[in-house]
Amino acid sequence: MEVVVQCPSCDAALPVKASEKHNEIQCGSCRKIIALTITSSVATDTSVDTCPMCTGQDFYIRKDFDPKVGLTFVILGATVSAVFYYFGMDLTAYGVLAVAVLVDLAVYRRLGDVTICYRCHAEFRGRFERMAEGFDLHTADILEAEYAKQVGR
Ligand SMILES: [Zn+2]
Ligand SMILES: [Zn+2]
Repeated sequence: MEVVVQCPSCDAALPVKASEKHNEIQCGSCRKIIALTITSSVATDTSVDTCPMCTGQDFYIRKDFDPKVGLTFVILGATVSAVFYYFGMDLTAYGVLAVAVLVDLAVYRRLGDVTICYRCHAEFRGRFERMAEGFDLHTADILEAEYAKQVGR
């Protein structure tokens, strides 16, 4: 599976190939050496049992969606729609807007799930079985605070 960990000192996103079972990686931007604990389930893309970054075992699932891409598309649709509207072609304008929203929804539905570590926000993508549940704000509050203490922030 593909793992993206966040550097604890500078927050840079660092992609890690779990199958290569690195014991540590170096942050590309601040040069910090980060220790990793990659379990065999993670390395073989079976399941996410332990986070390689913080060794936490609490994860949640969300749609693997880049909000920026979706937003760009809606803005593009709205702009094109506004041009038609300006020239008095109301129906075409609404049509364009509707299509933009539909395409956006279609893209959103096709995306897979990404599993995320509650503590350090590491992301896990692969063919492993999804066991985690949806995001829970209360759990996130507790675990994020715990992690902040652990990395000394
Ligand atoms: Zn860093
Ligand atoms: Zn973690």
